[in-house]
Parts: sequence; structure tokens; C-alpha cells
Amino acid sequence: MARIIDGKAVAAEIKASVREKAEDFEKANGRKPGLAVVKAGNDPASAIYVRNKIKACEACNIASYSYYFDENVTYAQLAELIDALNSDGTVDGILVQLPLPRGIDERKVLSLIAPEKDADGFHAVNAGKLFLGERGTVACTPRGIMELIRSTGVSIAGKRAVVIGRSNIVGKPVAQLLLAADATVTVCHSKTENLAEITRVADILVAAVGRKKFVTADMVKPGAIVIDVGMNRDDEGLFGDVDFDNVKDVAGYITPVPGGVGPMTIAMLLSNTVESAI
Ligand code: NAP
Repeated sequence: MARIIDGKAVAAEIKASVREKAEDFEKANGRKPGLAVVKAGNDPASAIYVRNKIKACEACNIASYSYYFDENVTYAQLAELIDALNSDGTVDGILVQLPLPRGIDERKVLSLIAPEKDADGFHAVNAGKLFLGERGTVACTPRGIMELIRSTGVSIAGKRAVVIGRSNIVGKPVAQLLLAADATVTVCHSKTENLAEITRVADILVAAVGRKKFVTADMVKPGAIVIDVGMNRDDEGLFGDVDFDNVKDVAGYITPVPGGVGPMTIAMLLSNTVESAI
């Protein structure tokens, strides 16, 4: 029976440390670290994510500034706002909540954020720094995944890590971070042949697929660390990419959904914001 990795508990520790740093920053600078949150359109999930991020800022002594547009927002309006936020001395981090309304080029908008204020770590400069092994802002979910793996106390160096998924926001950056931590990394995707053969040799298995219960017990090496990034909502509730009930009998460590990777993403956003400030 696997040990459950408690993402809520690890995230709470990180948030406590972020709060302390944010309080020290305020004492030294006479203002709180600031995060600007930009949302456009009426995606219901985005509204929940933004609300949670703002609440988390309050709890960690971070000032949040919200900017909401409807679905008719133009690229020029977003560009004008981001330009102003880039030169606003009270704003240390800028977050543009995705998805943006149809017709707006998300990458083009994200590229307008000054890389040193890129709280989400999605800017090409920060992605490039990660690739080159230079210090930059690392995307929140991949950073959170690494913290969860480290929380097991198992050494990553030399281990075989398999990442299922190659998105720019999860799969690719987490693979880079695992490589930087000296794991031997394989990245799988929808065209991968014999997926189960590959996942079965993984000491560390990260599932970022977006398909409910996709990773089954026969795909997992006994004792492996299994990190479930998936958030798949249907009429029955919220499910990960891993068949938790069966995989927990094979794995050594496993993250639940909810309560695994999810809470870490917000904790890392707050951490990125405070690190940009100091
Ligand atoms: P994405 O952009 O849709 O990428 C999914 C990846 O899975 C793609 O690389 C795709 O391969 C691969 N894939 C799809 N079907 C596959 C199959 N049959 N076999 C192997 N690989 C397959 O998704 P994402 O943004 O990375 O997100 C993944 C999941 O994590 C989603 O459920 C999302 O909601 C969740 N998520 C959670 C958090 C959090 O905070 N907990 C944050 C971000 C995302 P191709 O590249 O070949 O298409």
C-alpha cells in the first residue's frame, strides 16, 4: 500500500514560508509584494481559479490587483494593461489567467509580460532559461511536482523518470526539472508506442494526460513514486489521470486528486511572486 503524498500539507508549509518572506519584505520596503491578476472572458473554471489565487494572496500577505475584461476584449487593451503593469513598481508578478477568449493569441499576450514579473513562468525567456539550466521563474505546476517528489525523501539522481504528456505548461518543463535533478528522463505522448512497457520501468511516474484513470495498476512499477497531475471533471466528480484505488496497491508513493498537485500550483505561484519581489 503506497504512502499518500499530502499535497495540502506540503503546500501549507510552503505558504507559511512565503508569508514570512512577504512580511519581511513589507517591513523592509513599506509595501507588500504585489500580484496582478488579469482575467478575460467568462470561463467558469477560470473564475474559480482566480478567486482561489486572490484568497491565497491575502493569506500570505501578498497584495493582489485584479483586472477583469469581458469576452470582447481586444489584444490592444490587454497589451496596454500589461505594459502599464510592467512599469508599475508595486507589481512584482503578473498572471494572465488562461484560456483567453477565442481569437486572442495567448502566446503573443504572454510574451508581453516582463520576464522578471512572469509569475506563471510561461514566458519564452523563462522557458529558455529552464532549458539552459539558468536561474529564472519556473512554471508553478512543474515546480510543485518537484517539491512533492522531494517531500518523499527519495533521491531523484540516477532514477528513471517517465513523464506522460508533453505540454508546454506541465510535461516539457517537468521533464527538464527532472533532468536537472539528474534523473534519466523519458517523455511519452499520444504517439508513443508500447506506453505501458515504458511506464513499467519508471521509478518516478508523472501523469499529465488529461484522461480520467488513464494510468492503471499494470502500468506501474512496484514501489514507484506516482504523481497525478490530471484534473478531469465529470458528473461523478473530479478525477486524476491515475486509477488511484488500484495503483495505490502497487506504488510506493502516490498523490491523490484532489489534494495532491492542485494545492501546490497556487503555493508556487505565491512563491514565484515573492521571489520576484525580493
Ligand atoms: P494537454 O496540453 O492537453 O496535454 C496532454 C498531453 O497528454 C499531450 O502531450 C498529449 O500528447 C498526451 N496524451 C494524450 N493522450 C495520450 C495517450 N493516449 N497516451 C499518451 N499521451 C497522451 O494537457 P496539460 O495542460 O498538460 O494538462 C494535463 C492534465 O493536467 C489535465 O487534466 C489538466 O487539467 C491537468 N492540470 C492540472 C494542474 C494542477 O494544478 N493540478 C495544472 C495544469 C494542468 P500529444 O502531445 O501527442 O497530443
